[in-house]
Amino acid sequence: MNHDKNVTATVGHLIDGQIVYDNGRSQPVFNPATGQSSTSVELASKATVEAAIASAEKAFPAWRNTPPLKRARVMSKLKVLLEEHADQIAAMITAEHGKVLADAHGELQRGIENVEYASYVTELLKGEISRNVGPSIDSWSEFQALGVVTGITPFNFPAMVPLWMWPMAVACGNCFILKPSERDPTSALFVAQLALEAGLPPGVLNVVNGDKEAVDTLLTDPRVKAVSFVGSTPIAEYIYAEGCKHGKRVQALGGAKNHAVVMPDADIGNAVNAMMGAAFGSCGERCMAVPLIVAVGDDTADAMIAGLKAEIAKMKVGPGTDNANDMGPLVTKPHFEKVKAFVDSGVAEGAELLVDGRGLKVAGHEEGYFLGPCLFDKVKPGMQIYQEEIFGPVLGIVRVKTLQEAMKLIDDHEYGNGTCIFTRDGEAARYFSDHIQVGMVGVNVPLPVPVAYHSFGGWKRSLFGDLHAYGPDAVRFYTKRKTITQRWPSAGVREGAVFSFPSSR
Ligand code: NAD
Repeated sequence: MNHDKNVTATVGHLIDGQIVYDNGRSQPVFNPATGQSSTSVELASKATVEAAIASAEKAFPAWRNTPPLKRARVMSKLKVLLEEHADQIAAMITAEHGKVLADAHGELQRGIENVEYASYVTELLKGEISRNVGPSIDSWSEFQALGVVTGITPFNFPAMVPLWMWPMAVACGNCFILKPSERDPTSALFVAQLALEAGLPPGVLNVVNGDKEAVDTLLTDPRVKAVSFVGSTPIAEYIYAEGCKHGKRVQALGGAKNHAVVMPDADIGNAVNAMMGAAFGSCGERCMAVPLIVAVGDDTADAMIAGLKAEIAKMKVGPGTDNANDMGPLVTKPHFEKVKAFVDSGVAEGAELLVDGRGLKVAGHEEGYFLGPCLFDKVKPGMQIYQEEIFGPVLGIVRVKTLQEAMKLIDDHEYGNGTCIFTRDGEAARYFSDHIQVGMVGVNVPLPVPVAYHSFGGWKRSLFGDLHAYGPDAVRFYTKRKTITQRWPSAGVREGAVFSFPSSR
């Protein structure tokens, strides 16, 4: 491992406060709007990841004992730096992910809100105390840092999802190793460098870029105490099983297939506008995207389709660098091919393709991975486009007769990340949010992504583990409870030996 790189445009690793390169394996990073690559990313070897773990372990004792207020101040400073560099970070996201700049700013802002929440850590780490639990006995619980912890993140929110994890982990006194997505690694590394500028000591946050080799090293090394993962369900399941097998605390957030129920009494204009953003924003590459509308009644379905077709006709698709565009390209060529194949399969399985985005060409960007918005009617359970996460700009309408039928569909689906209902009926909305087997629910809100001071997580096969990401659950995930029971008998008081189990009887 060294500090020089023969190819300058290569994304390396951040270890012990330094950008380093191991000059081993690497892969190109593409601009999805042009199909061209001007950067590559190193894929860390086991030895490089082990160096990051050693650096984090070395930094831990001093950081654990740094007063929480000082740790919190680093977060406050980082928030300011992130705001100052927002345009630069958004440009990095757009160049590698493809999303429109305004959308990149939106994800960064959500990430900043997690940094802001982490800056309240002094409040959040106050323990619990009970006086006089027995004669002259007080008891309290405190929340201690775990040690070296890691986070493995997906391509679709390259800046925000890392910020769901490491700010709270380090604010709680841990040292963190981040493994960002190798498809769009630049913004996460840049943000980590800003954290150093904000005062984070070297080694408290290390970044290793890489693939399975890096991840497997983190999963199996006994010095790593906890793993946060966000990505697809097959990998989440693997991370959970492997991490648990190696004695680690694991939270692994997976994929999704979110349904929006539209009731006959809904404000159709609002529901159409909400669905346009929820289905096609960020090209459908969001785990809270809504790729399925469950319309209650044929009239509701017909009205939604009329509204959606009119709005889709107005959509602008093009490079994310132009904020006039509503939607950018898909992230990579293989992903583009995969989404297109889903559309083919929907047609082959008998769904009705009302809007076909497969032929879209963006002038001047012929090599970009652009797919136009697609709209299907008569989607049915069992079809591939109903069952599987497409992660593209493909919206399907499922027709049902009753709310109960809609809810049964949602409950029977393997994923349970998010869902929403559009209605003017408070009783229906309350019944839906009370009973539906999904972790995050919106009522007339299409993307019910919890704010930073709540926590984020799905149910069923959308999350493996117990605690959700960020918010109050993150404080619990990144700390272990220690309960101390203390007695100071009055001078001269002696008690005989007690052989029965201590109780307050
Ligand atoms: P992915 O599962 O392909 O990759 C996620 C991370 O896992 C990356 O860092 C990658 O390098 C690593 N990885 C990939 N294959 C691996 C393997 N075989 N062994 C070990 N590590 C491996 O996911 P993605 O395509 O980057 O992201 C999209 C997915 O993430 C979608 O399924 C989406 O729903 C999901 N997602 C979920 C949430 C959530 O909160 N539930 C949020 C964002 C994204």
